Amino acid sequence: MAYAIPLWTPPSLPVSGSGDSFPVRRIFCVGRNYVEHQKEMGGDGREAPFFFIKAAHSLVPLGGDVHYPPKTANYHYETEMVVAIGKGGRRIDAGKANAHVFGYGVGLDMTRRDLQQWGKDHGRPWDFGKDFDEAAPCGALAPASKIGHPSKGAIVLVVNGKERQKADLSDMIWSVPEQIAYLSEYYTLEPGDLIFSGTPAGVGPVKPGDELEARVEGVGDLKVKIIPAL
Ligand code: MN
Repeated sequence: MAYAIPLWTPPSLPVSGSGDSFPVRRIFCVGRNYVEHQKEMGGDGREAPFFFIKAAHSLVPLGGDVHYPPKTANYHYETEMVVAIGKGGRRIDAGKANAHVFGYGVGLDMTRRDLQQWGKDHGRPWDFGKDFDEAAPCGALAPASKIGHPSKGAIVLVVNGKERQKADLSDMIWSVPEQIAYLSEYYTLEPGDLIFSGTPAGVGPVKPGDELEARVEGVGDLKVKIIPAL
């Protein structure tokens, strides 16, 4: 088949310990999924999970240099464990959800917090706050066949040598299997989908020159340097 414009390479993530790449289809993100972060964002109690989406185009494989984005004066990090779906399905039972996971990585749900807040205040979508160029740096995927399915372990972010976020995966309000079960009631999950599983408390702004080091115990790490806007 001839394409009218040149076909692009699908976004993908390296798989650690192999030469393989994992093609990325969609990026789902859960909101307010750690107790202390839910409090800092004004939430209360165990409300139903909610999700938003970033385009796969926003992926920055392995991090590295990330441009400060346009149209924001409050550009935030959110450190998250990323879940890579290897086997699709709909109405997946939480008890069987792990069988749908290919592996796990470390991601940053980068956010134009001022634009997100504007959307909240005006009852408008979050897209401009969450889905923009280079909004989803993500490290290599560690296959579940090697590391299992982490449900506890430290999730940490260090910015310019100072610890800014620290929690445990067990502090999630909705576990990864519960997220998969919930999401798959609304979407047919497909191989290649990613789920950003929420951020702990301590979110905050970064500026050009800042260096971020995120890690999830037993999963991996991700380094990002914020560089001046294009
Ligand atoms: Mn997030």
